Amino acid sequence: MGSRVKRLAGKLVTGLAVGCGCLLSVTAAGRPSEKMDLPDWSRTPVEDRDLGQGVHMLESFGGNIGVLAGEEGVLLVDAEWSQLHGKVLAAVARISPQPVRYLVNTHWHWDHVGGDGLFGKAGVVIFSSEETRQYIVQAQTKKSPPGTPYTPDPAAIPVVTVTNGVKFHLNGQTVEIIHAPPAHTNGDLIVRFVEADVIQTGDTFFHGFYPDIDQPHGGTIDGMIALYDTLYNMCGPNTKIIPGHGPVARREDVREYQAMLREVRNRVVKAIASGMTEEALVASHPLDDLDVKWGGNLIKQPYLLGIVYEELKDRQSAAR
Ligand SMILES: [Zn+2]
Repeated sequence: MGSRVKRLAGKLVTGLAVGCGCLLSVTAAGRPSEKMDLPDWSRTPVEDRDLGQGVHMLESFGGNIGVLAGEEGVLLVDAEWSQLHGKVLAAVARISPQPVRYLVNTHWHWDHVGGDGLFGKAGVVIFSSEETRQYIVQAQTKKSPPGTPYTPDPAAIPVVTVTNGVKFHLNGQTVEIIHAPPAHTNGDLIVRFVEADVIQTGDTFFHGFYPDIDQPHGGTIDGMIALYDTLYNMCGPNTKIIPGHGPVARREDVREYQAMLREVRNRVVKAIASGMTEEALVASHPLDDLDVKWGGNLIKQPYLLGIVYEELKDRQSAAR
């Protein structure tokens, strides 16, 4: 990863009042550590979207949480920031009086796993991919001070790792956990609530704004673009999609997103072929038309251009 991306990443962390764990991964990967602009947690709600058949989406500051609730207990997919743990538990308690038994991490970013330690201490069994577990263990070895992300905590480390896939049979529902090929990271898990017809994508898909791609942890733009074919084909006309961030989506949203990301990639490829530097590309504002729809949230044009340019350029150099 080149210096331009490091600089842009630092700027991204400083400049945005957001909680995408991808931004925190920037710090965890050893790049510039900047002060994040966090919300007033006491005023940050956790909102419940009922998707039917005991499946809910909890939406708040960090990554969306998937919930499967019923008589046999509760399964959660992702755990939010630890500061929101009390509100997450309260939201789950409004859905079901049964305890949380299982927690699946879609990937290692803090806004998806921040609550792991608190769930682990309460006896919840945490599942993740092997890669995600490894990244959490690695991040904990950096010995972050107490109260900061990835503070050493054995209870926050996933107990069961998923290599190819696993199925839960709970509350009369089937939940398929699928290990995606490298996309947002190389350890992404996709979750399918079969009977409820809901798919949870983790951060492989953001609904309504540009993606982030954690290339230092195996993410890749071509993997993202290819995965949208898989996701689309997993969906029927009524499937509800829980994205990593953003509101509930439908399969058409995935197709539209894929077309946007392909377009971004094509423009960057052309710039590289014409010998344009990354700085010149960013300065030329090549995504201004796409910004209207996609640039209004976490990820801004210069950052996206930077990570796509450097990945494609690095690959070109490696192929020589
Ligand atoms: Zn992420």
